[in-house]
Amino acid sequence: MTWNWKENNQQKHQFRSYYCLDCKQRKPCYTISQEYCCSCAYQKEQERAKEYSDYQQVYQQKVREKKEHEKQLLLLKNYQECKQCGSKEADAYNLYESSKLTCQPCRMKKEGGASGSVSFLERQKWYKRWWKIDLGEWLENYQRLPVNADCAREWLKDRNHLNSCDCLEKEVNNLVDLFTGSLKEYQEKLKECQCEISNKTRTPYYDSANYGYTYCEKCETRIAGAGKHGVIKNRNNPSFWGLEIKEKVLCLECLEKFQEKMPISKKYTLNKYLKRGY
Ligand SMILES: [Zn+2]
Ligand SMILES: [Zn+2]
Ligand SMILES: [Zn+2]
Ligand SMILES: [Zn+2]
Ligand SMILES: [Zn+2]
Repeated sequence: MTWNWKENNQQKHQFRSYYCLDCKQRKPCYTISQEYCCSCAYQKEQERAKEYSDYQQVYQQKVREKKEHEKQLLLLKNYQECKQCGSKEADAYNLYESSKLTCQPCRMKKEGGASGSVSFLERQKWYKRWWKIDLGEWLENYQRLPVNADCAREWLKDRNHLNSCDCLEKEVNNLVDLFTGSLKEYQEKLKECQCEISNKTRTPYYDSANYGYTYCEKCETRIAGAGKHGVIKNRNNPSFWGLEIKEKVLCLECLEKFQEKMPISKKYTLNKYLKRGY
């Protein structure tokens, strides 16, 4: 729990960095993303594409979502009004997140804050406008909805469409293609990448005056970086002292414990720093 304070600080200050939000080691060239360096952005897209690479899995997911949505609309259709306040506005969050009907004005009164409302009338208007169908009739007659606006259009032309409808398959195919396509696009763009790579250990935190800082990897003492450059000072870099250890940032006190492993000249310099006290 002692880490909370640090995490807070990180959130507050990390956006000052000019470096990739993910690896914090590369300056993005903005070929792919505004926030991430190209290789991190590509990696993220790869993960996203992986989720959408399995046709069956995406299809099953979409079927589940569709059924869930139809169930919610049916609930909403049968919602009369709140017995307490008489409102017909249901709470959108509770409906869409947990398929539960609750009165929106009453929830606001009880819990405060802001939450959206949804009513059958409003949904009905939406479907009339964008899908050209009467939502109430549809739910009553078919207990299910068209897949999308195209599907609704097809059905309006041909009443038998629902019996041979493959609109969901088409939609899923398009989704899968879309993600494979965009991954290929990223791959091409990656060739033009000019992100600047920095091998210096960066300071992930910035104080209110924009000076970078970080923490000793052993004792967690706060360590000031090299001014506003966003990197640590040489003296906090174990390899500067000729040390081959896994830590990348250490305070001088912790470095002192490795003194025996340092070359003579470095030992001498370290003692100078330690005597000076900074
Ligand atoms: Zn990165
Ligand atoms: Zn109410
Ligand atoms: Zn269809
Ligand atoms: Zn790049
Ligand atoms: Zn330390």
